[in-house]
Amino acid sequence: MAARRIAAAAGVADHRFVSMPQLMELSDMKSRKGFGGLPPTYIPMKNAIYYGLAAAYAEETRSSRIVAGHNREDTMVFEDTGDEFFLHLEKALLAGSQRLRRNRMKLWRPLGEMSKTEVVSLAERLGVPLELTWSCHLEGTEHCWRCQGCVARQKSFASAGIPDPLMPKKTKNV
Ligand SMILES: [Zn+2]
Repeated sequence: MAARRIAAAAGVADHRFVSMPQLMELSDMKSRKGFGGLPPTYIPMKNAIYYGLAAAYAEETRSSRIVAGHNREDTMVFEDTGDEFFLHLEKALLAGSQRLRRNRMKLWRPLGEMSKTEVVSLAERLGVPLELTWSCHLEGTEHCWRCQGCVARQKSFASAGIPDPLMPKKTKNV
């Protein structure tokens, strides 16, 4: 699993996994009525759930930062990655925990103003092991290079002018 490999490379001391098999993407739901404009990979209220779990961990460990990796392009598609959502979520979390208030917990989005291309360039400059990253929406041992995540990855690496270490030689960048 890419998350385990990249966390190990970064020296993460306490990496926890929570299983949530009941969460569904739009593509798996019986009805998509009322979800207009959202991609099939959208998971209803995903970020309220994920950051609630992160806040529980922050409360337990007295952490003062929860770091979110959303970029500017995410906010154009998913309302639950934008300024409004994070502003109110942070307020709600702080209102619910004296311990979080005492530790001045902040939801931090360092990539929030950057495009995916800028994120790839920054990652390369910082020496991020890009060969350990995962963008595909499908499970497996290799990227499919056809899904929305794979297509966005190819475009971002191409426009950053950085060769993707995971790109098979026979597949051309889009
Ligand atoms: Zn894919």
